[in-house]
Amino acid sequence: MKVTVLSGGVGGARFLRGVLAVVDPDNVSIIGNVGDDIEVLGLHVSPDIDSVLYALGGVADEERGWGRSDESWNALSTVAALGGETWFQLGDRDIGLHLLRSELLQQGTPLSAVTRRLAEGLGLRSALLPATDDPLRTFVETPAGTFPFQEWFVARGHRDEVDALHFTGAAEARPAPGVLEAIEAADLLAIAPSNPYVSIWPILAVSEIRAAIERRTVPCVAVSPLICGRAVKGPADRMLARLAGGTDPAAVAGCYPGLIDALVIDEADAAAELPAEVRAVVARTLMVDDGARRRLAQAVLDAAAAVA
Ligand code: GDP
Ligand code: CA
Repeated sequence: MKVTVLSGGVGGARFLRGVLAVVDPDNVSIIGNVGDDIEVLGLHVSPDIDSVLYALGGVADEERGWGRSDESWNALSTVAALGGETWFQLGDRDIGLHLLRSELLQQGTPLSAVTRRLAEGLGLRSALLPATDDPLRTFVETPAGTFPFQEWFVARGHRDEVDALHFTGAAEARPAPGVLEAIEAADLLAIAPSNPYVSIWPILAVSEIRAAIERRTVPCVAVSPLICGRAVKGPADRMLARLAGGTDPAAVAGCYPGLIDALVIDEADAAAELPAEVRAVVARTLMVDDGARRRLAQAVLDAAAAVA
């Protein structure tokens, strides 16, 4: 059974750990979001890809919820002491990875090849594919102005309401090598419980990726990142309220028109109604531990079998 998962950062990575517990990792492909990528202090940082790398490589900091475990902050302290900008936090171990990525990119190695090398180095058996090697970046339109994603999310603490998303470079962006093949070879497509607007939409903004999913002949199952209308973490609920007019499962399904056959929703939302073409599959969706992650991934496999 080959499974291909569209994933953002931390929420996606949690789900992927469950997937790898129920599917042979060699048969899992992950299509990652690069809309969040940012140049910091001359380094190319791919926050969503790195969240997946660190989680699946077993080096993520579970308590902090992002970055690496056993981290130290000497490099950033030096930047601060010298009056540099430190609003985007980077630990020393994290910086080591960004140094290598940035050097390889500067030498002309595409992001997908760089990511493959990093994934191999961290012991991943699954293919981790950036959606595109081309520069695609998320911009957030708010009443206070339009901001690059990280400026809104990190520097402004995502306090501004979002009126629209823009994905610069998307019109010209081609899928990275292996992406269309992973979609076409899959027996099951899954959309992780990531933020639909800023983690999954930038992937779907690559028109050939969206088209490949639209013409799928296998089930595509999404997992809702909301429980009882609330995001487990982050601004997805506020974004849905403003951009989709609601935070119920139908609003989540509405983010993926023509793209999903089932939506896995929480037990607490079992009474929700979905559009006729999307089957509701009820499960416990809060991924508190290995068992919960594994059961949620199994619910996605079961959902796929039910709509196949
Ligand atoms: P980011 O790129 O690091 O912000 O992470 P993602 O976009 O991949 O995931 C963020 C989303 O994950 C948020 O909208 C959360 O609501 C969702 N999320 C986090 N943990 C859980 C969980 O245990 N269950 C569910 N259903 N969603 C979760
Ligand atoms: Ca993200």
